[in-house]
Amino acid sequence: MIRRSFLAALAFAAALPVAAWAEAPLKVVATTGMIADAARQIGGDQVEVKGLMGPGVDPHAYRQTRSDIVAMTRADLILWHGLYLEAQMENFFHDLGRKRPVVAVAEGVDKSKLRAHDDYADKYDPHVWMSPAVWRDVVVEVQKALTDARPEAADAFAANTQAFLAEIDQLEAYGKQVLAEVPENNRVLVTAHDAFGYFGEEYGYEVLGIQGISTQSEAGLNRIGELVDTLVDQQLTAVFVESSVSDRSMRALIEGAAAKGHDVGIGGELYSDAMGEPGTYEGTYIGMLDHNISVIAGALGADVPERGMNGKLSAGS
Ligand SMILES: [Zn+2]
Repeated sequence: MIRRSFLAALAFAAALPVAAWAEAPLKVVATTGMIADAARQIGGDQVEVKGLMGPGVDPHAYRQTRSDIVAMTRADLILWHGLYLEAQMENFFHDLGRKRPVVAVAEGVDKSKLRAHDDYADKYDPHVWMSPAVWRDVVVEVQKALTDARPEAADAFAANTQAFLAEIDQLEAYGKQVLAEVPENNRVLVTAHDAFGYFGEEYGYEVLGIQGISTQSEAGLNRIGELVDTLVDQQLTAVFVESSVSDRSMRALIEGAAAKGHDVGIGGELYSDAMGEPGTYEGTYIGMLDHNISVIAGALGADVPERGMNGKLSAGS
């Protein structure tokens, strides 16, 4: 009788799917493509990452869909940016954080590295991915969150993080090199909204957005008039459109300059708040910034490698 129940207990233990449970990838949901990419680079085959915001999606305006909510209720870990980037989802994430493991990864950046927000005295500019040096801190936060969720994979996560940080260092150095080749009086970046503040600070560029730090603020006619004057006065000939923001106000700027007899063209399309298509080089963090750096430097007068830092950019970008 005793022997029989012992065997039954053994059979029961053997039937428990212990091995399968340990090997199932950690289900991670991330808001922006940039965070999803960091989770994939660090997590490798230990994670299954779902990014909520695809190419061309504006995080300032994004609201969770029904299928996003389903994915988040099934996730082992939810990563969002914070710093008021996902402004329409703040309350949602604060509520969700009481029930699920939810981490705002950009909130971990050392405050001394953050730029002030133009519109809110108590907030920071959220666009930290634009500076490889600042994004490093976010990558380390993602590593911590994944390690907390799956401590047994800590060594693999640490090794993958080191490899990813080395690529980010290479990207930073490439940016410093090619952006410094732009003539000094041309180091002005005119874009649809103020997403490039950290970029400007890191690489020594003046950055002028038609809209403020959020795309939700109004692009006033006054602002367009001011920027037209700047383009004419400083003899700037290139402005940049963004993949996640309408180019309507950018066209108004070009027309305004033309009316004053000054020719301005589109220097290229930049990935400001969303990455490129999944499965492409531009659909990774490194590719997104390589694209931006190469397009900006090239349009403003530097001699850049045709296909960017790694020879991987799509032709014609
Ligand atoms: Zn933005």
